[in-house]
Amino acid sequence: RARQLSHHRVVVFQMAMRDHLHQKKDTEYAIRKAIQGNELSLHFQPQIDLNDHSIAGIEALVRWQDTEGAVISPDTIVRTAEDTGLMRQLGTWVVNEALETYATLLAQHCAPPFIAINISGHEFQDSFLADTILHAIERHQVPPERVQIELTEQVFIENLSQNQHTLHTLAAAGVSLAIDDFGTGYSSLAYLKHFPVDTVKIDRSFVADLPHCKDDIVICQAVIKMAQLLKLKVVAEGVEREDQRDFLLDLGCRYAQGHLYHPSMNIHQLTALLTQSQPITRLFN
Ligand code: C2E
Ligand code: MG
Ligand code: MG
Ligand code: MG
Repeated sequence: RARQLSHHRVVVFQMAMRDHLHQKKDTEYAIRKAIQGNELSLHFQPQIDLNDHSIAGIEALVRWQDTEGAVISPDTIVRTAEDTGLMRQLGTWVVNEALETYATLLAQHCAPPFIAINISGHEFQDSFLADTILHAIERHQVPPERVQIELTEQVFIENLSQNQHTLHTLAAAGVSLAIDDFGTGYSSLAYLKHFPVDTVKIDRSFVADLPHCKDDIVICQAVIKMAQLLKLKVVAEGVEREDQRDFLLDLGCRYAQGHLYHPSMNIHQLTALLTQSQPITRLFN
C-alpha cells in the first residue's frame, strides 16, 4: 500500500512536471511569436514632480495581450524571455519602441523631460547592451540626457566588471541611471558612491503601508536622507493614496509614481494627457 501510494505520487509529480514543461514551451513559443509578430506594445506611466505636480518623466512598461485576449504580465514576459534566450530580442525591441515613441513626442513638442526604460539584471550582462541603447538613441535622434535606464541592485552584485563597463559607457554618453525597486536587492549602499547613479526609486513594498508601518517609515526616511546626502533624486513607487504622498513629501521625497496620479497608459492616452494638461513652462522643447 505504501509503495502504491508513493508510486501514485511519482505519477502525479510526473504529470505536473509535464504540464509545467508544456506550459513553459507554450509560453516560450507564444513570446517568440509575440516579439516577431509585433504583438507587444508599450504603455507609459508618468512620474510626478510633487513640487508643482508637473510630469517629470515617463516610464515605458511592456504589455502583451496574446491572440486569445489573455493579458500576460511583464514579469512573466521578461522571465520567460530570459529563460529562453530571447531577452536580447525583447530588450532591443523595447529600447527602440520606447525611443521611437519619445522621438514622436519630441516632434509634437509635448515630450516630458525624460523617458525611463527598464533593463533587467540579465539583460544588463549582455556586452552588446550599451551599443544597442546608444545606437537606438542615435537612430531616433533623441538627446541622450533625456534617456534614463532603470536597473536593479542585482547589477551591482553580479558580473561586476562587465556591468561597470556598461554603466560607465552609458553615463559617459549622457544617459542617466536610476536604481529601481530600491531596498529590495540586499546590495551594499557603498556602490552608490562608486557608480554614476542619478536616481533611486523606493520600492512600492515600502510605500504600501505608509504612514502607519514603523519599519517602512524608518526605511523610507533612511533612503531619502541618504539620497539627499549623495545628491540623488528620489522617486517613490506605487503611491496610491494622499496620506502616503503627504507623508513622503514631509520626508523630503520630491517625485512620485503611482495610481494616485496616473496608471500606465497607451500612447493615445499619454498624448492626450501631455497635450491637454501639462503646464507649458515644464515642457523643455
Ligand atoms: P517596475 O519597473 O518597478 O514598474 C512599476 C510597476 O508598478 C509596473 O508594473 C506598474 O504598472 C506598477 N504600478 C505603478 N503604479 C502603481 C500603483 O500605484 N500601485 C500598484 N500596485 N502598482 C503600480 P508592471 O507594468 O506590471 O511591471 C512589472 C515589472 O516588470 C516592472 O516593475 C519591471 O521590473 C518589469 N518590466 C516592465 N516592463 C519592462 C521592460 O520593458 N523591460 C524589462 N526588462 N522589464 C520590464
Ligand atoms: Mg521600473
Ligand atoms: Mg520598481
Ligand atoms: Mg520591478
